[in-house]
Amino acid sequence: MAKIQTPQPVRGTQDMFGETEERFAHVVATFERVRRLYGFKGLQLPVIEPTAVFSRSLGEATDVVSKEMYSFEDRGGDSITLRPEFTAGIARAYLTNGWQQYAPMKLSVHGPLFRYERPQKGRYRQFHQIDAEIIGAAEPAADVELLVMADQLLKELGIDDGVTLQLNTLGDTPSRDAWRAALVSYFNDHRDVLSEDSLARLEKNPLRILDSKDPDDRGVAYAAPKIDDFLSAEASDFFAAVTAGLDAAGVAWTRNAALVRGLDYYRHTAFEFVTDRLGAQGTVLGGGRYDGLIENLGGPATPAVGWAAGIERLAMLVDRAPTQWVEFALIPVGPDAEKFCAKLLYVLRRKGLKCDMAFKGNPKKRMQKADLANAEIVILIGDEELKNSVLTVKDMKSGEQVQMSITEELMDSRVGATYTRNMLRAGLEFRPGTFAPKS
Ligand code: ATP
Ligand code: MG
Repeated sequence: MAKIQTPQPVRGTQDMFGETEERFAHVVATFERVRRLYGFKGLQLPVIEPTAVFSRSLGEATDVVSKEMYSFEDRGGDSITLRPEFTAGIARAYLTNGWQQYAPMKLSVHGPLFRYERPQKGRYRQFHQIDAEIIGAAEPAADVELLVMADQLLKELGIDDGVTLQLNTLGDTPSRDAWRAALVSYFNDHRDVLSEDSLARLEKNPLRILDSKDPDDRGVAYAAPKIDDFLSAEASDFFAAVTAGLDAAGVAWTRNAALVRGLDYYRHTAFEFVTDRLGAQGTVLGGGRYDGLIENLGGPATPAVGWAAGIERLAMLVDRAPTQWVEFALIPVGPDAEKFCAKLLYVLRRKGLKCDMAFKGNPKKRMQKADLANAEIVILIGDEELKNSVLTVKDMKSGEQVQMSITEELMDSRVGATYTRNMLRAGLEFRPGTFAPKS
């Protein structure tokens, strides 16, 4: 028989387990907690959307739409795309569900996204984001709230050190259009120096030349016209209100006049939280105001602002002690004890204590497993002990062990977890020879 070849994973995807998965889960759990502090409601959205949701809202000229989307025709002949970002799908949901009645809405979502990119450290084809959006608020206070929330999230993750908030304004539509025209004429004068990529951008998305990573482009971009020379009074006031709000909240920021966002729909505030601890993939969180997006999807003019952060990139920065998976490991010695422990295991778990027992193995093997699992306390019960209704509690760190009685309280699953935990731990506070736990 021919040898069956094990299929390989899709390039740019990851299987996460152990510490990697724990860091990832920690980022999501922290986000879920922090977004609730700020009153952001959760969303669950489809991973697949009609292709038009992205092509219409992000713009055909963007990297995402022109090169990175996973699009396919389904069996019914419809063009479907695996979502490459959240904002467009949220805007689609806002319109198709008639959520205008709830505006302004503070929404949050997290999950997998797909982009056909060149995989490298911190850049995958399936990656994951946490995302927060405020839809239906034109006030700079909304921009401030999102930025303060992002700042608090990074602080609670303990990764704010070495991460800076870079802030820019892209102005309102008239400011941005005037700036764009000036950029096009400036870059046209420097066509000879621009990279191949940037020459193409000049036609479609000239702002993107400003954040090109090509060294020659960077030289030209450095001296390019600045948005500040084109800002209308209204756009200036808006930006001043955002920076004043950040200062009042004690959020540090730096101005980066060359910061533009990859997508066409941004107006006013644009920002990125950037670190130098991740090499080339230094942007951990990015976002801004996208007042034009919902209109591009055929909806009414709707102001909106939001951000997204790559969970993998945040997880790489997180410093995290491994989770204590097993508090109590049960080790039976003998057939009666085996049966008793199987029952005790469920009693303790139903009280909310983290306990485990190996499916098989002699006491020595099971002790080794408990040690490997980093168990805090081992509970040993032999057939003889069981007859006398006692068990042995062993502190794995100190090695100290003591017998205590199997009391009603210990077995009574109506008694709370904290009580039981304390009782089992208290057993260790007694010198050997004293059997009863504290009453
Ligand atoms: P880049 O310039 O790095 O490609 P981007 O502008 O495409 O970034 P956004 O669309 O703004 O990124 O996505 C927001 C965040 O999502 C990024 O700052 C990053 O943390 C994360 N991210 C984007 N693409 C990927 C990817 N392919 N793999 C992992 N994380 C990603
Ligand atoms: Mg990208």
